[in-house]
Amino acid sequence: MELIDLLRELSDAFGVSGFEDEVRERITDLVSPYVDEVKTDTLGNLFATRTGKEEFTLMLDAHMDEVGFMVKWIDENGYLRFAPLGGWDERIIPSHRVEILTRSREKRYGVIGSAPPHILKEEERKQPIPLEKMFIDVGASSRQEAADMGINIGDPLTIHYPFTELCSGYVTGKAFDDRVGCAVMIETARRLAKRDLKVNLVLSFVIGEEVGLRGARTAAYQIDPDLALALEGTIGADMPGIPEENQPVRLGRGPAITVADHTIIVSRRMVEALEQAAVTEEATIPYQYKLPTYGGTDAGAIHLSRAGVLSGVVSVPCRFIHSPTSTLRLNDFENTVRLVTRFIEALPDILR
Ligand SMILES: [Zn+2]
Repeated sequence: MELIDLLRELSDAFGVSGFEDEVRERITDLVSPYVDEVKTDTLGNLFATRTGKEEFTLMLDAHMDEVGFMVKWIDENGYLRFAPLGGWDERIIPSHRVEILTRSREKRYGVIGSAPPHILKEEERKQPIPLEKMFIDVGASSRQEAADMGINIGDPLTIHYPFTELCSGYVTGKAFDDRVGCAVMIETARRLAKRDLKVNLVLSFVIGEEVGLRGARTAAYQIDPDLALALEGTIGADMPGIPEENQPVRLGRGPAITVADHTIIVSRRMVEALEQAAVTEEATIPYQYKLPTYGGTDAGAIHLSRAGVLSGVVSVPCRFIHSPTSTLRLNDFENTVRLVTRFIEALPDILR
C-alpha cells in the first residue's frame, strides 16, 4: 500500500478517545502480515510484536485515539448538547459537520449549529460561542426522534473531513495526530518484515492519549521495555503571524526529535542516538528539533513506568492539529519512517 493510502485509511477511521475499536480493527489488519504476534489488552491497547535475537526490547508507541466529543444531553426538540473529549480550541468548533457513532456502531450525521448573524446583537457577534451554548442538529424534531435514530447520551462524535491531497505530497485529514504515528509504525514494520532483528520490537498502538496518556501507562507496564520511542504528529506552526522562535516544528524539514516538552526531558543519550541514526552511509536523513517545551506525548507516561524507562520522541510535523483539518507533507512522513527504521536496525549498539 502506498504511504498516502495508508494515511488516508487511518485518518478517515473513527477513533475518538475511549472508542478506538474501528481504528484498532483497521490497524490489526494492516500490521498483522509483518509481525509474529498481535494481541489486545483489557483497555484496548494493541500490541504487535517481532522477536529479535537479543534480550533487549524496544517499545514503539503511537496513540490510536483522536480528539472528539460526547453527547451529554438531548433536549425535547431533538437538539444534542456535547462535551469535549481531549483538548479543543472552542473558537474553531461551530459550523462543522459531525459524525456520531451509535451503540449499534452505525454512523449518524449532524451539524454544529449556531444562531444566525441576522438575529444576533453587534456585541454577540464579536464574542466566541462557549461550548455549553453550542448544539448539534441531527434533523430530529424531538427527543424520541433522536432516540429512534439510535442516538444516546454517551455516544462519541467527531468533526469529520475526509482525507484530501491538497497538492502533490501535501495532504489534509482529521486525525493526523496521531494516525500518522500509527502509519509510521505499520510502514516501519513492513520495511523490516524480511530482515532479522537484533532486538525485540513491540509496536504499541494505545488508547486514550488525548485524555491523559492513559493507554501508554498500562502498555509500558506490560511490555516492560529497555527503551521506548513515542511517535507523534506534532505542532507545525510555520505559518503567518508566528515568529520562528515560537514555531515548535516546521513542515518539510524532516522528523522532529524532542529534547524536552511538558511531560519529559529527554536524556541526551537518547537524543544523540537518534541524531546518530540519521547519518547513514548513503545519505543523511534530514531532521529538526522540536523546540522546547511545547505539548506532551505518551513518552511522559512511559518514562515513568516501573523503575523508569529510557524514552524519546520523534514526530512528523503537522499543521493545525486538534482541528478537523490537520495537514502534513508526505516527505516528512517518509523521512520519519527512514529514521525510525535505521534506529531500530542500529540497536542496541547505537546506545552504547
Ligand atoms: Zn497526539
